[in-house]
Amino acid sequence: MHIEVTNLNKHFGDFHAIKDVNFSIKEGNLVGLIGPSGGGKTSILRMLSGLESPTSGNIYFDGKLATHLPVQERGIGFVFQSYALFKHMTVFDNVAYGLKVLKKSKTDIQDRVTYLVNLMGLSGHERKYPHQLSGGQRQRVAFARALAPEPRLLLLDEPFAAIDAKIRKELRVWLRNLINEFKVTTLFVTHDQDEAIEVADEIILVQGGKIEQQGTPWEIYTKPASSFAASFIGESNVLPSYAPLVGFPTLADLHQDGKWLPHVNVLIRPENIEVRPHNVSHLATAGEKGKVTHVHFRGDSWYLEVDTGAIKLFAYQPVKERIYQVGDEVNILIHQISVFTQTGTTWIDNQ
Ligand code: ATP
Repeated sequence: MHIEVTNLNKHFGDFHAIKDVNFSIKEGNLVGLIGPSGGGKTSILRMLSGLESPTSGNIYFDGKLATHLPVQERGIGFVFQSYALFKHMTVFDNVAYGLKVLKKSKTDIQDRVTYLVNLMGLSGHERKYPHQLSGGQRQRVAFARALAPEPRLLLLDEPFAAIDAKIRKELRVWLRNLINEFKVTTLFVTHDQDEAIEVADEIILVQGGKIEQQGTPWEIYTKPASSFAASFIGESNVLPSYAPLVGFPTLADLHQDGKWLPHVNVLIRPENIEVRPHNVSHLATAGEKGKVTHVHFRGDSWYLEVDTGAIKLFAYQPVKERIYQVGDEVNILIHQISVFTQTGTTWIDNQ
């Protein structure tokens, strides 16, 4: 189902929680709704679900007005962190629940539940009760229950928040495959930016009741629209005002009428900083000179801190790179910076 949200507003008394929000979700896409606590994610989700009414604005499902459609007529499946399974029902009965409400025949229910239970890797557990399952298994039952009545929209509110880190990572891949299989339009609220980057077709970043940016994870990561977006998704060196970066040829872009632009923020992703030994002769003039002040191993890369005298930067270097020691003289080459000024954002590549 294609979703369109136009000029959506929500007031709670005097408090303007959702401010003129517009977005659309393509049919079959998995969209991550992320942002800091209190930003408005749950309020948006609740308005889409029909559990909350917008103060103004509209919601369209496949082009049809759905703003005030009752919850049960929206064809939505829910999986919430706290949306506990029915404790007194078996796995089979939990998954069958929505089908019974729809008054499906016994054979249809049996076939659909068996299909979903197998797909979720839960066969053999049909007669168990929720307390006899692990957290990961319980959430898979919750997904099976949500998907059983063939929803047109799946709303996920922090579905993996209560699950431990390792299983949670496995569930990301599992969720991606599941949505590919069912091709159901899905909105996924998460606090976890890595989770959103990994599974979502698109990310909607909300802060203070407004949308900061919507785009693919790649677009938001490589072209953050604001310093907030850059710091929320991924990690960055934040240079709060202009700091000299010798050897970055396009810094002229920060110049206007011979002066540095006011209120310039420069952000540099740690993987866009290349560290090279200082004594490589043909590189002697390239980049910025610095001294390594900290080194540690991150598992998939090395974390380095380099002090150039003017600024201190942290950089990630691939595992196969030479390992530097504290005190080493190095050259740093910066491959990309994001520049935020009062008038706009530019992304400068230095290949
Ligand atoms: P979290 O990540 O903490 O769940 P969120 O991004 O989902 O946060 P919302 O729960 O949508 O944010 O809340 C947005 C704002 O609206 C918050 O400031 C919250 O206090 C306020 N709010 C939400 N529901 C109500 C309500 N029923 N009455 C009054 N204020 C509310």
